[in-house]
Order: sequence, then C-alpha cells, then structure tokens
Amino acid sequence: MKSIIEPFRIKMVEPIRLTTEPQREAVLRRADFNLFRVPADDVMIDLLTDSGTSAMSSEQWAGMLRGDESYAGARSWHRFESVMRELTGMPHILPTHQGRASERILFELVGGPGKVVPNNTHFDTTRANVEHSGAEAVDLVIDEGLRPRERHPFKGNLDPAKLERLIAGVGASRIPLVMVTITNNSGGGQPVSLANLREVKAICTRHGIPLFLDACRFAENAFFIQRREPGQGERSIRQIVREMFELADGATISAKKDGLANIGGVLLLRDDALARRADDLCILTEGFVTYGGLAGRDLEAMAQGFTEVLEDDYLRYRIRSVEYLGERLLEGGVPIVEPPGGHAIYIDAGALLPQIPSEQFPGQALVCALYRHAGIRACEIGSVMFGAHAKMELVRLAIPRRVYTQSHIDYVIEAVLEVAERRSRLRGLRIVEAPPSLRHFSARFVELT
Ligand SMILES: *Cc1c(COP(=O)(O)O)cnc(C)c1O
Repeated sequence: MKSIIEPFRIKMVEPIRLTTEPQREAVLRRADFNLFRVPADDVMIDLLTDSGTSAMSSEQWAGMLRGDESYAGARSWHRFESVMRELTGMPHILPTHQGRASERILFELVGGPGKVVPNNTHFDTTRANVEHSGAEAVDLVIDEGLRPRERHPFKGNLDPAKLERLIAGVGASRIPLVMVTITNNSGGGQPVSLANLREVKAICTRHGIPLFLDACRFAENAFFIQRREPGQGERSIRQIVREMFELADGATISAKKDGLANIGGVLLLRDDALARRADDLCILTEGFVTYGGLAGRDLEAMAQGFTEVLEDDYLRYRIRSVEYLGERLLEGGVPIVEPPGGHAIYIDAGALLPQIPSEQFPGQALVCALYRHAGIRACEIGSVMFGAHAKMELVRLAIPRRVYTQSHIDYVIEAVLEVAERRSRLRGLRIVEAPPSLRHFSARFVELT
C-alpha cells in the first residue's frame, strides 16, 4: 500500500492556533522579518529544526515518572548505561546535557593549537569546539556531497583519497582523531555507508589515528545502509548500528535527534585513560559522571528513546515521510538538494528565485514567504547565516520526529508549491541591524520594494 501511516496513535494533543495571512503579516513585521524572533505560538507548522523537538512516547513519559533523582548511581543511570552499552558496545559511557557538551569535553582533551581534525562535514558546533581548542577543522566529504543536484546513495561519505592526502600533508601526529558525521547534517542529512566507514577505519588504523563518530542520527544512517548498501538488506538495524560503533574508538551524540528526547547528550569512549580524563572534565562543568548535568528522568527518556528509534516501523515511516515531501516538491518543479536526506528537505532558494541576488538574501525571502502564506517556519541556510562564505542559498525544512502527521506534510507541500507559483513576486531583503557574529539569530531586516 502506498499510504504512509504514522506507526503510532495520538494520546495527547497540543493545539495549533490557526492564523490568517494579515495576522501573520503583522507578526512578521514585528519580528523584523527574522523568524527566530517570532513567538512559537504564532507558528502553525514549525520546521525550524529537528533538534529537541521530538514527541515523546507514553513509555518515555512513564519513564519520566520513574526517574531516580539520586545524585550518584541512580537506577535511571544504570538503565541508560545498559541501553547504550548494548546499542554500541562502548566501554565508557558519559551522559552530558547536549551533544556540544560532549564535543567540548572531547576537544578540550585531544584538540589544541597545531592539531588538525578531519570530518566529512563538521556540524557548526563541532567546528566551533574544534576551533575553540585552537585546532583546525577540515571537511573532506566526497565531491558528490558538494553538488546539490547529483544523486549518490551515500553522499555523506568521507573521501578516503582526501584523507590520505591530508595525513601525508600534515602528518599523523598532528591528527588526534578522524571524525565521521552520521548522517552528514551540514551536507543535507546524507548517509555514510558501512563500506566507507570500514575504509576510513583501515586508513586510521594504518596511521594509528582513532576514529570517532558524530552519531546524532545513527539510526537514520543505519536505515539508509539497510536499504541502499549491497549485502546489508537482510541485517537488522541493531546489527548495523552495532557494527558502525564497533568500527569507532568513540562517539559524540546529541540525544535531541535520534535519542527522541528533548534534551541530553552522550560521550562514548573506548580508551580507559582518555575516559578517566573525560570524567574529570565532566564533573568540572556538567555534573557527576552518573548524571552529567541531566535529571534522572531525562536519562529515562533517553534510554527509552534510544530503544524506540531502532524500530523498523518507525524508521520506515520517518524516512519515507521526508522522502515523500522531497518527491512532491521535485514533481512540482521546486529545486531541492537531492536525493532527500534523513531528517530534512533543503530547498535551493538561489535556483528558485534567480531574480534575487545573494546580497538580497533569496533564502530569507523564501522563509518569509512561507511564513506569510502558510504559517510555516523554516530555516535559512545561506548568506544570512554564513555571509560571504555561503556556498549555496538553501532553506531547510527540518521535520520534527513523530510530531506532525501526513496531512501536515501535505499542507507543507501545498504551501511550498503555491509560493513557488508566485515566485516572480517575491522580494529580497536588506539587513538594518545585526550583531557581529551569529547574526541569523537576531538580525533585523526590511523588505526591498
Ligand atoms: C545537533 C548536532 C550536534 C550538537 O548537538 P546539540 O545537542 O545541539 O548540542 C552535533 N553534531 C550534529 C551532526 C548535530 O546534528
């Protein structure tokens, strides 16, 4: 059957306030055309991010009540630890308040001036933590991963030849670890194959360099491997996940993505000495090693979330729903990053709105039009976010997990296609006030006439 049905039913609802176009016009003006300044209550479909926005299950909420808030060795910690150990096989498991806290601890330990950290594509907080330590962050994704229209089953792969060249150029002693982001968030949520992980691991082993995963979307990545990689179709998601982690010497994870939780992170380590030093840093700023800055109930939500995310029915629905959104937009002539990734669809606003030059922010123009027309909040990833460094003018529709139904997705499709139909009427914007860094969060705009 073709219909995509949600493999869950709804026990609790959160009303969406339906607004009119004139109401949204007023909101948009009050927010100076910056969607980060719009109150969430004024948004109908919020696709700003898939991070921390998941709906929790009845079992997760039940776990919240069972949470043990003991300072040390809480029951909730033991449950969380055993779930993560079974999932990954990693000997050292450290909870943290978010993925970036795991990154901060890791790069404080292994980074520093003179060091070079390769990744397929660094996520922005990962790059920031590498650079904050004084090290240099280098992106080595395969060339296909840099071309939006080019189809490749594993567009997130790290290029082994580029890695060999980097190691030959700077020397293995300056590379404290190689990181691979699964799925490659900044590259459009594109997966990495097991074959690529094995090849990168072999190079790392040859040069004595540890391999780490930025494993925020490990379950979505495993699903793509099961579907697309020769010889993997008969294996379970759990087996594939286990192999991905067995190839690694450690991992950072944000539980706000595939952990199906609203907060939380994990740092996984294989090396005993490194783990002892990580424990000390965790205690310094996060909390004792059995709670890492989280409440016991958060550990329960994470333990249950990291279990539910592996279910075949859930993953099939999740990936199919995002793919369906991408297919309908392509059929309607809307250019997107292809093929659709795991957690989001990226519209190529630069290609859709050729009349608006980069200096007038075509992505921001599209984001504003989607909000004005349909109350949808999307995220500009282009010249507003990256200034002159922007390589593309993208608009990301990130899909929160288990939050919106298929009819919400159909509404989004209808809205994007209607906005695309009147694309010639869209106008660019000008920044009237912006802070020196991270300007996308607070910049104020006016629309050009
Ligand atoms: C979200 C994310 C992070 C950071 O996690 P936070 O929980 O937001 O701190 C790191 N890497 C990737 C790939 C991510 O998607």
